[in-house]
Amino acid sequence: MNLFAPDYYVKSFKSINLQRLHENGIQLLLCDIDNTLVAYDEVFPNQDVIDFVEKLKENGIEVALCSNSPSARGEEFSKHLSVSNAYTFACKPFPFCFKKAKKDYGLKASQIAILGDQMYTDILGGNIWGLYTILTAPIAIKDRKITKVFRFFEELLYGYLEKKNILKRGEFDD
Ligand SMILES: [Mg+2]
Repeated sequence: MNLFAPDYYVKSFKSINLQRLHENGIQLLLCDIDNTLVAYDEVFPNQDVIDFVEKLKENGIEVALCSNSPSARGEEFSKHLSVSNAYTFACKPFPFCFKKAKKDYGLKASQIAILGDQMYTDILGGNIWGLYTILTAPIAIKDRKITKVFRFFEELLYGYLEKKNILKRGEFDD
């Protein structure tokens, strides 16, 4: 298995098929914020994000935010959502927030999914630590400076994965 290959590749959080999460025994979805749920400069969740969280909860899946952003960003964002936790300054791909989530919810890593737009943080971290990984196309082209550095290496990685027939950019599962 390639550590950068997601278990599930979607165009947007809106196209996630909950049936697929149920089939994989997922009970908690950890959501990255920037460029996964909203553009990085959007302070508040929009109605699509609010509806998405509600739909997951109605279907028996808990939702928590899991962002490398500073605490203030995550806390402000989470105030407007009925998520049960906001893990901020998470330092993905390191497992601090994954371990905390396992403990907080009493779950095994395999029962937790991580949804994010970056291979070097969200997907690599999730795969190393045994979570179910969901890669989404990033919402906006705009990025923080540090993210731009990661994007450069991500370009190379996409090229490699495409050559190996592991993942084709834009050929989403849903
Ligand atoms: Mg992100």
